[in-house]
Amino acid sequence: MRLIKEISQMKDYRKNIKAPQTVGFVPTMGAFHEGHLSLIRKARQQCDKVVVSIFVNPIQFGKGDDYQRYPHNLSEDISLSEKEEVDVVFAPSLEEMYLQDYSTFVRVGGSLSSTLEGASRSGHFKGVATVLVKLFNIVRPDFSYFGEKDYQQVLVVRKVVEEFNLDTQIIALPTIRERDGVALSSRNSYLNKEERKAASILYEALEKAKLWIKEGERNPFIIVSKTKDLIKKEPLARIDYVAVVDPETLEKVEDIRGEVLIVLAAKIGKTRLIDNSLLVARISKRRKKEFSIER
Ligand code: AMP
Repeated sequence: MRLIKEISQMKDYRKNIKAPQTVGFVPTMGAFHEGHLSLIRKARQQCDKVVVSIFVNPIQFGKGDDYQRYPHNLSEDISLSEKEEVDVVFAPSLEEMYLQDYSTFVRVGGSLSSTLEGASRSGHFKGVATVLVKLFNIVRPDFSYFGEKDYQQVLVVRKVVEEFNLDTQIIALPTIRERDGVALSSRNSYLNKEERKAASILYEALEKAKLWIKEGERNPFIIVSKTKDLIKKEPLARIDYVAVVDPETLEKVEDIRGEVLIVLAAKIGKTRLIDNSLLVARISKRRKKEFSIER
């Protein structure tokens, strides 16, 4: 496995890989957990070469966000990458990615990037889109792997790739969870024991929301209100948003029919966590009032 820190070297490596050989790419901010590893493993299965980037991208963090204390664990990440038979870990420095007078950004317009996380974290998707366009240009991956845990990010990245005519296929993979349902996240390391226990309320709330839908509730306002009430029972949790949205546009739905996505963001103590769950509510043919749920 190679550890590459310079953009020029990464580009040289890529130039030597010729079709039909394929390059799979997993962009990350490091501090690996099983979620990252699931993406790496899929890339390893599907591609000839696997490149993993580790870069904590300052421009996707807002003021007062956790950029300064974001966990770093490069040596551990490198040894995990070796174990997973990654070909290249690309870990550029801040100066390498953003020269001192850096001034070019990718702004993703439209409601897809201004709603939910975009509304709560101003400039976040501009930072994400900018760093990914840079990374895609450096690595030129055939396939790029992302987690559905950051569902909105997947949609925004797909839009950027499509609208900038980039030659990479975005592959989204399911959220990996702890035993109690908590979605793995590098930020979980901020949680103390009590907070970690409290964090499971988010998954519990998603599961309950699904159950209520399964039992026939089709009014998203009621689902949102009951889900919020459930989360509020946990004193360490502070809700940012809970919404039932269209999984393609992220617009709030007025009626729960077909595919819907339940999304939420909340602080547990000082740590902001996000989670989501996709479901299909079908009206069964025999008993029209009942829903069957997939996923
Ligand atoms: P990050 O290092 O947090 O920027 O995440 C890098 C990639 O891992 C992103 O595509 C995330 O969506 C994905 N990821 C993060 N947590 C999980 C998880 N629990 N399950 C699956 N993928 C994840």
